[in-house]
Amino acid sequence: MTTCILRASLTQVESTLRQAIALIGYRPQKAALFIKPNLSNAGPPGQGLYTDPLIVEALVRIFDTHEVVIGEGCVVGRSAAIAFQGTAYADLATHPRVSLLDLDEVKRYAAQWDFGVMRLPELLLSHEYINVAKMKTHIQTGVSLSLKNQKGLLLPVDKKRFHRKGLHSRIRALGSLVQPDLIIVDGIVALEGNGPWRFGTPVDMNLLIVGDDMVEVDNVCREIMGFAPEEAPHIPPMDELHTLGLPIEEVRRKFILDFPGYFTYHNLYEHINDSCSGCNISIYHAMKQLRSSWWGRVRFQLHAGRQRTDIIMGHPEKLPPNHGRIICLGDCTRLFAREHNLTFVAGCPPDPENLVRIF
Ligand code: SF4
Repeated sequence: MTTCILRASLTQVESTLRQAIALIGYRPQKAALFIKPNLSNAGPPGQGLYTDPLIVEALVRIFDTHEVVIGEGCVVGRSAAIAFQGTAYADLATHPRVSLLDLDEVKRYAAQWDFGVMRLPELLLSHEYINVAKMKTHIQTGVSLSLKNQKGLLLPVDKKRFHRKGLHSRIRALGSLVQPDLIIVDGIVALEGNGPWRFGTPVDMNLLIVGDDMVEVDNVCREIMGFAPEEAPHIPPMDELHTLGLPIEEVRRKFILDFPGYFTYHNLYEHINDSCSGCNISIYHAMKQLRSSWWGRVRFQLHAGRQRTDIIMGHPEKLPPNHGRIICLGDCTRLFAREHNLTFVAGCPPDPENLVRIF
């Protein structure tokens, strides 16, 4: 087990990666590589939202005799093809040794694990697996690093199940089932605040963390971000961390995460609970659609501008305090809506059109 911490910038990322790979003594054992970045959705570059494509491009140059598959399974309700197109990842596919794959469409094998049978990409058996995660805060798991990045290996149905059945225990168990050959965490521009999406704030950390054990790498990153083990329960804690390169104390910076349980947008309150990203993306698209027309903006003002509207997702235990009009969004809320006689929008994920219609 070895993890190294190095200062890095996007202009010198290849030389830093070469140094890190030499320090931990990593050599691929297979002829082809499967690189799994954190690209759960499209978003602007340099904002700490996803693994910078320059890091993946540097890996393609470093392992210059290997075929490379870059694969991602985005958040529920978003296809990897759109995420690749919406970022510079699509440009990497012009390289003759590189192909891009939507993991929702790849062949899978059945693996036994603590919770029954899990269907995983066959790429994990045929290719050298490199997990290139992002250093981010996460409102449900505290931090999002390499263990959390593996959720992108799952089919959408399993992603939803993870949220319903216990995110922390399942991410841990998946980490025992699937172990990458090399782990890289992109901490060059990291994310703090109410991550992992648009409500987070970019942080210039200028770090790459590279190792051969996910649990150790994630513990090192968690320490760097100033989180206690109990604040990131999906990461099995370790008593001692041995690192190469920079000491943790020299690079530690306390990341902000102060999530009250809901996001606000004007007078719209979005209650997350244990929801997966599918319902959140539906809200995002519904709001985008409302904003795109004069009449939509008027309706938004009437229902979530001047007066409060609460959208509830996942499996809430009780009604939010001081709530306004309540909309229960997604099939997870069906019983809660029935129990409290509330407006309900069905679907998993729900069609944004149906949410727009009731505004
Ligand atoms: S209803 Fe929404 S939160 Fe629940 S599993 Fe479906 S998409 Fe995810």
